[in-house]
Amino acid sequence: MHFPWPDGRRAAASFTFDVDAESCVLAHDPTASSRMSLMSHQAYGPRVGVPRLLRVLRRRGITATFFVPGFTADCYPDTVRRIVDEGHEVAHHGYLHERMQGLDRKEEAETLDRGLEALDRLGVRPTGYRAPWWETNWHTPDLLIERGFTYDSSLLDGDVPYRLAGERSEGSLVEIPVDWGLDDWEQYAFYPGWTGSGVIESPRKVHEMWLLEAQAHHAEGGCFVLTNHPFLSGRPSRAAALERLMEDVQSLDGMWVAPLGEIAAHAASVLTEIRRPRRIEALEAS
Ligand SMILES: [Zn+2]
Repeated sequence: MHFPWPDGRRAAASFTFDVDAESCVLAHDPTASSRMSLMSHQAYGPRVGVPRLLRVLRRRGITATFFVPGFTADCYPDTVRRIVDEGHEVAHHGYLHERMQGLDRKEEAETLDRGLEALDRLGVRPTGYRAPWWETNWHTPDLLIERGFTYDSSLLDGDVPYRLAGERSEGSLVEIPVDWGLDDWEQYAFYPGWTGSGVIESPRKVHEMWLLEAQAHHAEGGCFVLTNHPFLSGRPSRAAALERLMEDVQSLDGMWVAPLGEIAAHAASVLTEIRRPRRIEALEAS
């Protein structure tokens, strides 16, 4: 059965941007702050990438979702204000892009609250969350529900949104799943001594693989969620390829292009079934 998209639409697509800037490098290694060139590679995002991508979005008439770590908001408040002023959604992405793996409830709650406080200083109250590195814990949905988030976009077990309960809390979230195949990190990220395979792909190839996925989601009534980083996809030929992709996705008949917050609100209004997190453990050795 097809997902009940609104107004007779047959599928949905969302363009999302993770404005990590320096935060993801510093979370990985605080001493990286001494590497001026590496810091400048990350600063390209808010300095050049975001303004260029905002121009692309304006030309295409697309409203996007920007996931902003609190640290980015503190370092680049004007960038966040610009994103908001252009009518886009700003959502939560940790404080210093923390690695959540192994954090207990209290530690993870502290990073969530710190991120919320940073966004609050700019007047932003996010309804959506995306875990840094898409790394969640089994208690993460509880923490999000307790804080009034309405959706998460960090899990990888679906083609369409679904409702997800916490392990302990009342209520639920909408989960809008993602996929590493639809993330520019795997295509473009390379910095010596920091990340990447050393292979930097052609934007032409990237456009092709992402359009194939969008077309297949369109055929199957799915939800195409693309994740880009302004320090990667804000570069000239990559932004140009992304603009062509946006045009191609918009031209798919009945494709609903919307920010994640709107997709989540629609999903919450039509979905009745609520999924419980299901932990699967390895059998203990006998
Ligand atoms: Zn990120």
